[in-house]
Amino acid sequence: MASYDVIIIGAGPGGYVCAIRCAQLGLKTAVVEGRATLGGTCLNVGCIPSKALLHASHMLHEAEHNFAAMGLKGKSPSVDWKQMLAYKDDVIGQNTKGIEFLFKKNKVDWIKGWGSIPEAGRVKVGEDIHEAKKIVIASGSVPASLPGVEVDEKIVVTSTGALELGKIPKSLVVIGAGVIGLEMGSVYARLGAEVTVIEYLDAITPGMDGEVQKTFQRTLKKQGLNFIMGAAVQSVETLKTKAKVNYKLRKDDSTHQLDADTVLLATGRKPYTDGLGLAELGVEMTKRGQIATDDHWQTSVKGIYAIGDAIEGPMLAHKAEDEGMAVAEVLAGKHGHVNYGVIPGVIYTHPEVANVGATEESLKEQGRAYKVGKFSFMGNGRAKAVFAGDGFVKILADKETDRILGAHIIGPAAGDLIHEICVAMEFGASAQDLAMTCHAHPTYSEAVREAALACGDGAIHA
Ligand SMILES: Cc1cc2nc3c(=O)[nH]c(=O)nc-3n(C[C@H](O)[C@H](O)[C@H](O)COP(=O)(O)OP(=O)(O)OC[C@H]3O[C@@H](n4cnc5c(N)ncnc54)[C@H](O)[C@@H]3O)c2cc1C
Repeated sequence: MASYDVIIIGAGPGGYVCAIRCAQLGLKTAVVEGRATLGGTCLNVGCIPSKALLHASHMLHEAEHNFAAMGLKGKSPSVDWKQMLAYKDDVIGQNTKGIEFLFKKNKVDWIKGWGSIPEAGRVKVGEDIHEAKKIVIASGSVPASLPGVEVDEKIVVTSTGALELGKIPKSLVVIGAGVIGLEMGSVYARLGAEVTVIEYLDAITPGMDGEVQKTFQRTLKKQGLNFIMGAAVQSVETLKTKAKVNYKLRKDDSTHQLDADTVLLATGRKPYTDGLGLAELGVEMTKRGQIATDDHWQTSVKGIYAIGDAIEGPMLAHKAEDEGMAVAEVLAGKHGHVNYGVIPGVIYTHPEVANVGATEESLKEQGRAYKVGKFSFMGNGRAKAVFAGDGFVKILADKETDRILGAHIIGPAAGDLIHEICVAMEFGASAQDLAMTCHAHPTYSEAVREAALACGDGAIHA
């Protein structure tokens, strides 16, 4: 029987980051992972492969739409789908192998197999029992299901199947206008598929700033994505090579049918805790099936902790990573902390969409007095030079104190630009602090500064 200070179940961004930090802090650490490679959903079937396909399809879009204007003449490249998938798999391999290397470097043991917890202090993998002073559950999430929709990962797929389709479909119906649906929808639209997104609500990307939602939907429509809003999918019938999607419009209860070569079910994800033995252990769960934890990520059973997609909060890799690091600090007797008010969210379409902190809608609901500083990328020389003038930066600041409360960006490199504002928020900065900071020219970041200036005496290039 092997004995550890910490055993972590799951090697996704929550688990592997937690393990490396535990080892760095001097704890004897092992990770149990049942998948054949490390890195969890994120590296194997999530963040990384989707970004590889977004990148490749964006390059095609650039060649088709912008090369000629820059004097780059000639035929647009044709798509070798097999090679594109091979490129994506190579990117996955490089990243998952990278985690194996980091485990070796930090002396983290990988216990291969599916783990369960027969009692606090013990983890069972196959027939072996391993002892651990502390256990961290980082078992992640899986795609949520929808009544009436049976997934076969060929014609009706989740994001996992969508990352390895046998061929590029002529028509794709995406159920759900959330981040994953829109990212994968964008990929296939750029590769030539007729993409229709069916969304239950009246706006895409629920919870996002209303103005960004509208601009984003308009931009995606211009790129060829069709939207059916306020529609509840009732069922999907699968035929030999295609599917029929039945949906009902909420406004008048009328029923409709849409044919598609492929249907992507993208209605969200749910925590994955199967086989861990949590019910037998008496671990408390939330109403939404997440593992309930206290302020130190400890579950209702002493010595058992949980992080990442398996607990409450946004299902994001960096949120899982931050919790992984924080819980490692707690286990090493230090002070772990996650500022849940400053967790950025990014959509990696083109243009990118990024946000952090409060939305105007949430501030109105709180009755908080705020001001808005907004700047269009049309006034940013660098963005215009690369055909990326669509979109804007919007900063929300407290009306009295000028403290930054939130930011919303749609435009080039939004997913990188947002971090300047995250750091500012962590330090409790005012919009003026940001506006007084020199920003290099010509950069997209100047648009952030201009939005901060617009919170005060006004932007220069507006
Ligand atoms: C298509 C797609 C795109 C995404 N893009 C982004 C993005 O761009 N940015 C972002 O922040 N997030 C993105 N996400 C979400 C992100 O992948 C998750 O938030 C993140 O992976 C959660 O990390 P985790 O460590 O909690 O769990 P996971 O990454 O899900 O890892 C959990 C691991 O635990 C293992 N496991 C579970 N139970 C056991 C057991 N009993 N024994 C052994 N092993 C077990 C699983 O095999 C899995 O490998 C995306 C997700 C998808 C599906």
